Amino acid sequence: MTAGDRDRGVRALREAAAARLDALRALRRDLHRHAETGWTEFRTSGLVARELARHGYRVLRGHECVRPDAILGAPPAAELTRRRREAGELGADVELPGVVGILERGPGPTVALRFDMDATEVLEAEGGAHRPAVEGFASTRPGAMHACGHDGHVAIGLGVAELLARPDLPWRGRVKLVFQPAEEGGRGAHPMVEAGIVDDVDHFAALHIGHEALGLGQVALEVTHFLSSAKLDAEWQGVAAHAAGAPERGRNALLAACHAVLGLHALPRHGGGATFVNAGVLRAGTGRNVVPSVAELRFEVRGETDQICAGLEAAARQVVEGAAQMHGVEVAIRAAGRTIGARSDPGLVARLGALVAACPGELEALPSFPLGGGEDATLFMRRVQARGGQALYFLLGADARSGHHSATFDFDERALGHGVALMTGLVLDLLG
Ligand SMILES: [Zn+2]
Repeated sequence: MTAGDRDRGVRALREAAAARLDALRALRRDLHRHAETGWTEFRTSGLVARELARHGYRVLRGHECVRPDAILGAPPAAELTRRRREAGELGADVELPGVVGILERGPGPTVALRFDMDATEVLEAEGGAHRPAVEGFASTRPGAMHACGHDGHVAIGLGVAELLARPDLPWRGRVKLVFQPAEEGGRGAHPMVEAGIVDDVDHFAALHIGHEALGLGQVALEVTHFLSSAKLDAEWQGVAAHAAGAPERGRNALLAACHAVLGLHALPRHGGGATFVNAGVLRAGTGRNVVPSVAELRFEVRGETDQICAGLEAAARQVVEGAAQMHGVEVAIRAAGRTIGARSDPGLVARLGALVAACPGELEALPSFPLGGGEDATLFMRRVQARGGQALYFLLGADARSGHHSATFDFDERALGHGVALMTGLVLDLLG
């Protein structure tokens, strides 16, 4: 394909995506209304599977693309059952969230695109200038809100699916569209990677909408400073006893947890790069006059590199176990999520740059953007790269209103058209 062909091609795609903008917006708003948090994306998965099948994709669902024994940080079974019931008709036959659509057109390389589907645990703003509330598409589920733009990611993914299925678009090879559950907390990519979903992939790409620093049409071609992180749950088990009658018979789990929290926050920083520690949730005890026999802590450690994070995680585990020993209680530590660092391949960054450059006045390239956060797409990226493939992660500007994960998060929906055009363009560029 010549540069001129590519430029004409991407402009045609941009027009095709823009012509579908009303449908993309309606889809995004439907998903926004029915926000589902990590591992409860039953309705979303059902909707995605139905649309992919309608466009002629072979569809892998749940256990076919998610390895159950590698699932991290799933809510309790009773909550999953309740959420599945609430998901209604679309989610009725979804056993486990997660969908992959596969479309093949003869021999050629395999390109995978990943779209995350989960909402955030945020109570959405009800009024003021918050557009989802004003225009009637705010979340109908209290405490679950698409406050990170993943509703937009799913809409983009289905827009790409529709365009790539058009018989007049010339490409050869195989496309895998990966709709991932539970990105928040770094929980969903790991079991999909372990299911081997990207083991046959030559080129991988993922995107994220928004980020306050990016205006509509701005595209950060390369993202750096992905933080490596470990999310851990600790549960201490002690012995209950009368607080005044026989405290010496008790084993105090609450005190062990408190010592652990202070110890975690007292862990030394690292001379080789940034580190972060957060004890986010602590629950303990059963009654005012009872020596507390149970305590539960959810915490995370992050590091600028995988090595720094691994060192910090080992030190954190030592603190949690040491605190248990100090109070004579038992402790169990469970991994609840993780992210790692990754770098995009320069070849794919350059291809994306050429696509962006073909739409002057509408799209504008920013060469590099330091994320300073975690993202579990990095697990897919590193697996693809480890097997000789190439990977890309980019940010799509959308005039995001207020910060990600805030109760008033929203974005300019014209970015949906940009996302569809760029992702489809990338596939055609690689398989054309
Ligand atoms: Zn996100």
